[in-house]
Amino acid sequence: MPGTELFGAEERKEVNDVLETGMLFRYNHDAQRNGIWKAREFEAEVKKQLGAKYAHAVSNGSAAIAIALASAGIGAGDEVICTPFTFIASVEAVLFVGAIPVFAEIDETLCLSAEGIKKVLTPKTKGICLVHMCGGMADMDSIMQVVNEHNLILVEDAGQAYAASYKGTSVGLFGKAGSYSFDFFKIATAGEGGIFVTNDEETYKLADAYSDHGHNHVGNNRGMEQHPVLGFNYRISELHAAVALAQTRKVPQVLAANRRNKKMLEDALSKTEGISFARVADPAGDSATFLNMMLPDTETAKRTVDELNKAGVGGFNYWYLNMYHFINQWDHLKNMKTVSKLPAEVLGIPRDYNNLHLPKSQEVIGRLVSFVIRCTWTEEEVKALGQKIAGCVEAAMPAHV
Ligand SMILES: *Cc1c(COP(=O)(O)O)cnc(C)c1O
Repeated sequence: MPGTELFGAEERKEVNDVLETGMLFRYNHDAQRNGIWKAREFEAEVKKQLGAKYAHAVSNGSAAIAIALASAGIGAGDEVICTPFTFIASVEAVLFVGAIPVFAEIDETLCLSAEGIKKVLTPKTKGICLVHMCGGMADMDSIMQVVNEHNLILVEDAGQAYAASYKGTSVGLFGKAGSYSFDFFKIATAGEGGIFVTNDEETYKLADAYSDHGHNHVGNNRGMEQHPVLGFNYRISELHAAVALAQTRKVPQVLAANRRNKKMLEDALSKTEGISFARVADPAGDSATFLNMMLPDTETAKRTVDELNKAGVGGFNYWYLNMYHFINQWDHLKNMKTVSKLPAEVLGIPRDYNNLHLPKSQEVIGRLVSFVIRCTWTEEEVKALGQKIAGCVEAAMPAHV
């Protein structure tokens, strides 16, 4: 949780600016706010860091992905290719804009693969909700080839990949629209917050209006604004934007420290038999928030997790059994336990989510143990951790069992 590791005077200063004026609302009230516009400043900082033409801050990352899907033109009845390995918000967002998730295989990048996408394409496929997982990124060259060849709408959930890029382009900017989360667990946090990004002006205008009841934000009298579309309230408050601004400014520093610490940990583990790592499609663009360790098979990974727990090593995730991130645990989705009927239920789901055949995803996630990289680690701490992990893997390897 790098963002929260560096929380201090800078965040307090930005929040205090807002408290001084009492102007917690991001729009209008020009006279009272005394030149304080934290949401706008946060958006400007993100645009600068990512090289995005447009950015729009919203209440959270889940809202940002829903806004990205809707603004990109994905709606009721559209089939959208989804990943079985993600924070479930990206699947929920597809369902709640009225679309129908179709699950495809991931590969060793931990993201959807071009090959996996091609296998589930149908004439009804409208788009892809691509999620850049565990600080890394999908293999964009091969994915963009499928997107262009089949005229698909690409929307990227880069919720946990802020500061990651592929061949010089920030993730989130390959498709029509993208999103990032600034929740408590990301590289930078707002407490709760998210941001929508795009390079397309029309898509941005739709997102800007959609996330504030359709307001076009022209002029300085909110009561007299036009509403080109229907929308909803996904606004961010100035208090959250203030925290996000201070945190985002720290990202370059966090990124450098993360990369150094990840490299040290990786070096410490790379000579241990049985350990390999998930594929980072562009190592130069890694946000380095996780070291993703791959064991030879699921059984060895499970024994490694037992050993890590016995040794008291914290700060890792075994997603295969974790309740949040892998399809095996999504019983509410598989059985469509909804509060009220969704378009997907009315229109019919083309595949039974209880009988999906995703052997590659099962194999990859079964072998994966992800360690959270801390930017405040000392060299001694990284070395000690590396030794402990290596010891646990050695004890879990088949020869020792
Ligand atoms: C964190 C995350 C989200 C959700 O963001 P919130 O700000 O918590 O709503 C969505 N997608 C991915 C991939 C995430 O990691």
